[in-house]
Amino acid sequence: MTTDQETVNQPEAMSFRAEVQQVLHILAHSLYTDREIFLRELISNASDALHRLQFEMLTNQNVRDADAELAIWVEVDKEARTITVRDTGAGMTREEMIAHLGTIAQSSARAFVQQAKAQNANSGEIIGQFGVGFYSVFMVADKVSVVSRSFHPDAEAAIWEATGGDSFTVGVAEREGRGTSITLHLKEDAAEFANDWKLEQIIKRHSDFVSFPIYSDERQVNQQKALWRRAPREVEAAQYKSLYQQMTMDYEEPLLRLHISTDAPIDLHSILFVPAKRERGIIERRIEGKIKLYSRKVLIQDEAKDLLPNYFRFIEGVVDSEDLPLNVSREGVQSNVGANIQSPIQQRIRKTLTGRLHRELNDLAEKEPEKFAAFWKEFGVFIKEGVASDFEHREELTKLLRFNSTTSGEALITLADYKGRIVEGQKEIYYVMAGSLEAAGNSPHLDPFGARKIEVLLFSDLMDGFMLSGLREFEGLKLRNVDEADIELPGEVDAPASILSDAEFSSLSESFTAALGDQVKEIRASKVLRDSPVRLVSDDDGPGREMQRIQQMLGRENEPQPRVMELNTSHPLIAALAHRAAADAADPIVAAAAEQLYDNALLLEGLHQNPAGMVPRIQRLLEAAARREK
Ligand code: ADP
Repeated sequence: MTTDQETVNQPEAMSFRAEVQQVLHILAHSLYTDREIFLRELISNASDALHRLQFEMLTNQNVRDADAELAIWVEVDKEARTITVRDTGAGMTREEMIAHLGTIAQSSARAFVQQAKAQNANSGEIIGQFGVGFYSVFMVADKVSVVSRSFHPDAEAAIWEATGGDSFTVGVAEREGRGTSITLHLKEDAAEFANDWKLEQIIKRHSDFVSFPIYSDERQVNQQKALWRRAPREVEAAQYKSLYQQMTMDYEEPLLRLHISTDAPIDLHSILFVPAKRERGIIERRIEGKIKLYSRKVLIQDEAKDLLPNYFRFIEGVVDSEDLPLNVSREGVQSNVGANIQSPIQQRIRKTLTGRLHRELNDLAEKEPEKFAAFWKEFGVFIKEGVASDFEHREELTKLLRFNSTTSGEALITLADYKGRIVEGQKEIYYVMAGSLEAAGNSPHLDPFGARKIEVLLFSDLMDGFMLSGLREFEGLKLRNVDEADIELPGEVDAPASILSDAEFSSLSESFTAALGDQVKEIRASKVLRDSPVRLVSDDDGPGREMQRIQQMLGRENEPQPRVMELNTSHPLIAALAHRAAADAADPIVAAAAEQLYDNALLLEGLHQNPAGMVPRIQRLLEAAARREK
């Protein structure tokens, strides 16, 4: 052997990055509960590697050991106190080992370290959430050897070893077959895991639905048969729960589950879940759900995007269809170009699943209102998005909508509830938009509605404006923003008497116009205001208005559109200002008050761009008030 060869064969030592060292330290020294999940992580990695190989083999038969059984073996050596998890998956080259086993995403590591220090979740959840998967072995092992050989026919075998310290080594290994073997040298206090029976229990608990056989002690331990391919009546609640947990690492019971298993007219087997919470854990790894797509036992996509409308992106689950064409590349299916790359089969699947989800959600709303309320709280915003974007299912989606109103108090109402309570002669559904529910409830626009006991829906969500673009009417009743100028309301109520003369009003109006300039289109006396001094009304009810409002609320458009300012001529503040304006057309207090009243109106509607900018003016007004004798 030449010297050169020897140097090459020497294992090479490398350091873990700093954040990996920190994670390893915590795993090795601080987390003692739920240590058994290390096995789940290793099996899940093995299963991923098997799925990757299977997918590769759809188009490429030129792989090492093309005939090897696709499976996972868990072996124990009690004497040596070791466990080995072996798979015939895609394997890793030396470079892949260095790249994949020596690193964790920096942000992920930081979040993990923070949360582990806070110790307010059990380790099983933390590890699942942060994707420190492989490293969990250091909870139970003080030395780990990974021997792997990639499926590429010309790849050499390699070995990666670490002892939970700050570095690892990589070197050349002996291994004929394709795949990966991970050997854990158990710590003394983890000797309990060197036990076939114990490992089998753990496999059943956490990895029962892995779609490749898992062998231990020469027997297959997992059920393997896909739960979604069984008839729903044969599946027990606990099995669904267990599938959900194994798939999502979410320990809370899902809010809703849907199981479809049919062979005709298309082959479609699917289990879908609505999680209990939109965000899980303190720092969420992902907010959006994941649908795994299988065809003929091959995992085609880990996060299928086109199988449900976008607004259902919080749904998790599995979709499996033998009818899907397999000649699609992973990239092809995954590129999110939408419907145009979908095969007719994919479109049918999407239609079936979407229709069923709508039925289930409407059922839930009808039969289990409390559960539905919990759903609405977490996912209502997605339903609103659906109303705006899914014309086909608008009717079903509209039935799911829930609103606060001026008379509903804490409760939420449906549009049907609203319709049931309209007053005699009322032909429209009214809503008010503001930056918050509280501000909506205090809107000056509500004055004439309160006086007539007409209910008004309160909109304070950014998504409400978007929703309105798809919700122009409900069962013949048009939806109408209360800030429109010419709303004619049913029922006579006495208008409060003006306490201003025409001359006083016109001097006030001149001073306001001078102070506000182009910000308002016009100043006029209000016919409807009762308790509030002013309001801004819109004489445009075109469809672009709500979207413009969204742009404003998002701060994308700086100046609010000019509107008409209505003054309440029965209000003492307006009267006092009018008297001052009549005495002195250039009174600075009148000008400052005009600007402040305008800002107040914007503020109440959630449209003010710079509230802090009002402070100097408010101070000037306070100063003037403070100087006055009592
Ligand atoms: P994650 O699985 O979340 O990516 P892990 O730390 O568990 O994170 O694994 C890191 C990477 O190491 C995997 O993404 C994969 O590329 C590689 N890996 C781990 N185990 C195996 C295995 N048994 N076969 C092939 N590659 C593996």
